[in-house]
Amino acid sequence: MHFNIKVLTLILILFFSKPIFSQVKIDNNFRSPIGIPITLSGNFGELRSNHFHTGIDIKTNGTINYKVYSIESGYVSRINISHWGYGKAIYIDHPNGYTSVYAHLDHFPEKIEKIIRKEQYNLKTETLTYYLDSLAIKVEDCEVIAYSGNTGGSSGPHLHFEIRETISEHPVNPQLFNFDISDNKSPVIEKLKLYLFDNKDFSPNFKEKYFNLIRKENQFILKYDSVITLNKGFFAFGLKAFDNYDNSNNKCGIYSIEMLVDGQLNHELFFDEIDFETNREINIHKDFKAYQNKREKTHKLFIHPKNDLQIYNRELGNGLLCFKDTLLHKIKILVKDLNNNSSELNFYVQNELPKSCDNYLENSKPFINKFYSLDSQMVITIDSNSLFDNVALEPVIKGDVYTFKNKIIPVKSNFILAIKLNDSQLNNADQLFIGYFKKNGNISNKNGFVSNGFISAELNSFRDYKIFLDNSPPIIKHAINNMQKNNNQELIFTITDSKSGVDVYNVFIDDNWVLSKYSHKNNKLKVQIDKYSNILPGKHRCRIEALDELKNKSFLEFEFLLN
Ligand SMILES: [Zn+2]
Repeated sequence: MHFNIKVLTLILILFFSKPIFSQVKIDNNFRSPIGIPITLSGNFGELRSNHFHTGIDIKTNGTINYKVYSIESGYVSRINISHWGYGKAIYIDHPNGYTSVYAHLDHFPEKIEKIIRKEQYNLKTETLTYYLDSLAIKVEDCEVIAYSGNTGGSSGPHLHFEIRETISEHPVNPQLFNFDISDNKSPVIEKLKLYLFDNKDFSPNFKEKYFNLIRKENQFILKYDSVITLNKGFFAFGLKAFDNYDNSNNKCGIYSIEMLVDGQLNHELFFDEIDFETNREINIHKDFKAYQNKREKTHKLFIHPKNDLQIYNRELGNGLLCFKDTLLHKIKILVKDLNNNSSELNFYVQNELPKSCDNYLENSKPFINKFYSLDSQMVITIDSNSLFDNVALEPVIKGDVYTFKNKIIPVKSNFILAIKLNDSQLNNADQLFIGYFKKNGNISNKNGFVSNGFISAELNSFRDYKIFLDNSPPIIKHAINNMQKNNNQELIFTITDSKSGVDVYNVFIDDNWVLSKYSHKNNKLKVQIDKYSNILPGKHRCRIEALDELKNKSFLEFEFLLN
């Protein structure tokens, strides 16, 4: 077990006060961020697309406007208002060195809202990232600091809650702080995956095999045969597993996986802390192909040489296995949550014939900067740090689609795609962008830079890219009758842009900028006539302007009466 590691961890914490923990709970006086029992639809470390989830998702009964409480006294250090990602979010720094983060919020209490409004009016923008000093907004223990919502990238009402180490900004598993989250269910191990390597390099072209499992309470065994016969030297495992909390059917992530070989701990991963710098490397941790093809969330139990994630006990090595003999070797895989529930999978492996384990696997050739060109029409420039593996890329042009023969390659950092423009495109060069169609039919705009007859964009995934031309401005319409209003009512409009997307929007009443709120989810633009907007009864002139990402501009002007 990892008793020694725990002791070492405690010593490290004592001497360096740096939180390197493994299931060491952290002393604190934090209260719950919400006034209802905490049930989770998502937890820390969960495998998502392109990131490990950095907080917990607290259910809010499918509605918004639950009171959100500061978990301890402190001060507001940041407020972020965005149409994407965290939506409306507030950050509170606490005296114990942690920052709590509350996201997808609907709105804030007046004490906070009026300070945000002031900054929004200063900058004449709805969206902002506002850093505040320790004196600006102090927060008491248990103070209501916001109301829950569904803003930003949220796809349903919930509270996304994070705890970060203030100094490093690394998200820490909130369940290490002993919030009352009921969980008496042990993790479920769905499938075992075996990866067989050729003894030449650590290429992604390994052979793989799935094993179905049978469950007896928290014990799992292979469905057909308890012995896996091996015919390659080097091999490794992957595990598809999830955890449920009480009172919730959502499949959440597991806390840790330990693999024991003949009784010795051989590989260990656990979700105590995540670094945003390396969070995208989830794509080399999880089985990328299984995720892209089937949305299967499989943890690989081996560490790629270019994997910098700090979720492993790296002293144990990289998780690759190899046996020279033909004896039976026992494998035990333990999966745990943070409420002391665990499940285990037991089976044996055995070589068919003796094997050599000398040919140690390493990422063979160093990856140098590369340049792929398809008839000088489509050019890809890949940096030595862009990919995890030394794989050849094959650009493909199909009509007006610029794509790749193999799209299931995880990207470590951006690469550049350049596409040659024809004469008619060159004549409209400032109206072009590179993008792709999302599943919902909308266009994802990746921008584009035109030079020397090419348009180029920095990209981080291999997809079907196209060149889009946007010369039509956004369309602004009344969404309701806006001609006559009472105090505390809203002016509501829709702004749509079918190509590059709505970028800038401004509302002026009698030539004064007023705060308006736009949502890309329903394309609505709303202006609340309230105590903050300072509009007196009487007749007013209203002008709305909207720009898309390519600066195509449109206006709507009308008069309304405020009763
Ligand atoms: Zn979340």
